[in-house]
Amino acid sequence: MSYDPQNIFARILRGEIPCRKVYEDAHALAFHDVAPAAPVHVLVVPKGEFRSFNDFMHHDAAEVGRFFQAVKKVAAELGLVESGYRLITNHGADASQSVPHFHVHILGGRPLGELLPVSE
Ligand code: AMP
Repeated sequence: MSYDPQNIFARILRGEIPCRKVYEDAHALAFHDVAPAAPVHVLVVPKGEFRSFNDFMHHDAAEVGRFFQAVKKVAAELGLVESGYRLITNHGADASQSVPHFHVHILGGRPLGELLPVSE
């Protein structure tokens, strides 16, 4: 499936709609999630056009490394290293990925409990 350049994170990257930026470098942008699921909920997105983690991992390994170094740096700047944090990335329908531009959620600021709700 092709990349949709009108997805909301592409529009944020182009500056067409605002975000609450917390970090930016040549390859990545981090901003607060508009509907936070924890006291700290920040999204980190690469600047290239990748639909999901699965697509991103076809990218140059050095670039992938730089992106995850940026994720680590943002978590540190948010003051989460001592208390702990969770990284989430959703790929595709079963994971309920809602924005088709690869992103990593950084969640923290309180004990986050179980990884997933207990299924019935
Ligand atoms: P996912 O379900 O993994 O695709 O996550 C998409 C995330 O993007 C959700 O947590 C949304 O709350 C968040 N989101 C959607 N639109 C915006 C926006 N304009 N600014 C910041 N976060 C957004």
